[in-house]
Amino acid sequence: MADAVERALADDRILLCEAGTGTGKTLAYLVPAISSGRKVVVSTATRALQEQIATRDLPLIRRHLGLEPDAVVMKGLGNYLCLRRFEELRRGGAALDPMRDRALAALERWREATTTGDVGELGELAENDPIWREVTSSSETRVGPDCAYFDQCFVTRMKRAAESARLLVVNHHLFFADLALRGPHPGHVIPDYDAVIFDEAHQLEDIATDFFGVRVSSARIETTLRDLERVLAVLARSGPVPGDAAITAARRAADAFWARLGRALDTEGRTTVERELWSGELAARWHDLDSALEGVVALAVAARGRLSGGAESGSVADALDVAGRRAGEIRTDLAVAIDGAPGRITWFERAAKSAVLSSSPVDVSRLFRELVFERISAVVLTSATLATGGGDVAGAMLEESPFAYLRQRLGLVADGPEVTEHLIPSPFDFPENALLYTPRDLPEPSDPTFIRRAAERALELIELTDGGAFVLTTSLRSMRLIHQALSPALGERPLMLQGEAPKSALLERFRRAEDAVLVATQSFWEGVDIPGRALRLVVLEKIPFLVPSDPIVKARSEQIEADGGNAFMALHVPAAAIALKQGFGRLIRTHTDRGIVALFDARVHKRGYGRRVLASLPPARRENELEAVRRFWKKSQ
Ligand code: SF4
Repeated sequence: MADAVERALADDRILLCEAGTGTGKTLAYLVPAISSGRKVVVSTATRALQEQIATRDLPLIRRHLGLEPDAVVMKGLGNYLCLRRFEELRRGGAALDPMRDRALAALERWREATTTGDVGELGELAENDPIWREVTSSSETRVGPDCAYFDQCFVTRMKRAAESARLLVVNHHLFFADLALRGPHPGHVIPDYDAVIFDEAHQLEDIATDFFGVRVSSARIETTLRDLERVLAVLARSGPVPGDAAITAARRAADAFWARLGRALDTEGRTTVERELWSGELAARWHDLDSALEGVVALAVAARGRLSGGAESGSVADALDVAGRRAGEIRTDLAVAIDGAPGRITWFERAAKSAVLSSSPVDVSRLFRELVFERISAVVLTSATLATGGGDVAGAMLEESPFAYLRQRLGLVADGPEVTEHLIPSPFDFPENALLYTPRDLPEPSDPTFIRRAAERALELIELTDGGAFVLTTSLRSMRLIHQALSPALGERPLMLQGEAPKSALLERFRRAEDAVLVATQSFWEGVDIPGRALRLVVLEKIPFLVPSDPIVKARSEQIEADGGNAFMALHVPAAAIALKQGFGRLIRTHTDRGIVALFDARVHKRGYGRRVLASLPPARRENELEAVRRFWKKSQ
């Protein structure tokens, strides 16, 4: 893999490389990237992998290879404390909310100590503490060189370090934020570079879809209004300020807009928003909201005009500019979502505390081609899960390539740029150390007795391995049901449920317990690394298919069908194969790990696609009978 990456970087090529668990994938691209002499961006899907590279892999290279990686880790703006917003919040005074005041006090202590401003350092505050929204940087709230705090700003310092570094470790979110800026605007987030290496590349399409989309939520509008209120409160201390009627009007208009939109869609019984829907009263509510936001922009401008030029006026002026700009951007994004340009889809969702109108491109392959493959000379895409079936790559037609799905989704099709493919299998002894159990006697997942039967079978397996088990479901509903069913039967054994504590805390407890059972869904199917005996059984409830009612999935399926393809085979089956391979990948993390993966979905035996899905899994020993599983387990102990 290192050779292939080296060649791709030297010859300006595109390389697709699936590298199974345990291949040393990260080192295999970091070493050639460091020795290439080029400015290389390494982009990961998760911040966890960024951290791993910074704290484990780069120091390892430094210690053992005598190479000096000149590297900087860059995260998205939202990961850094914005000094301006933080100071404004402080000056805004007590919030009469003890939780918030406690959070603010923790922030004040940390702000004195931190040298990076990376919010991940402050373990004291939960990741989802609402205060973060008010004090972190973002493209909406960042002022730039005119900001009074610009030179001390953590974001400025990180960017300056990145200018001169040779290796930039970013994440896909930041990478696409940068690409989006490079589009119509002259700006950029990441300094210019020669090559990019995407790790966890199987997540690129989803993340790109997010980034080339727009989202207007009731929370986004409210945060903008609240920020403006806050700065007006600061301003009011030194003199008269314009009345805040525009803010009240915007709140009222926003409430009316979301309520009317919700009603219109409820009546139609759908979530996708077609252009035609914006007529009559709904169009009137949109125009009201648009004018109210225009009023907010005007209010920010008027308030700025009254600034006296005193000591604080610099940061207040910045904050007013930002508030006005944010209100303006909301207007633009609303117009993009509502205008529904060709190739985009717009939809509405209601969460517990927020209503959201989103619009995204259905197909990002053209964007990938134009913005990534045609613009960047050397591109490496790697992951433990890129391919969707076995097969010999050498000399194979594209249709037969195990990378066909990825290539199709990212625009690397037959008439596109030249691509090199590599499949590097895991060095682990799967036939010896892992068993894949796919019982034939369970009902199909649609059967009303499925959850009960699946929980009973999971229990038998948990007893066999004495715990050390993940039970991974494909929905929150089945997660809760299986958890409920297992709970009374497990007695004293530690049983954990996704969401009852932060993910990292749950994993730590699981590791320490050694005989625990964790019932979880989506976010535990990938990116979770529990080497050793603590995890010896992974129960997968069913094949993790895409949710067909998801607006983007639905639009993509329709597009494939409209182009004469079969959406199920071209999209749903390969996507499920990749997700399943991720789930399977939780089990064997080292040469000495041993264990069982159980997949309770009888469709793998009964449906034509079953073989294709199973073919993408590592070559573990396969069994359908519980007795055979017992024998394997006894022998392996
Ligand atoms: S430049 Fe100013 S507004 Fe921007 S992140 Fe830094 S402190 Fe915040």
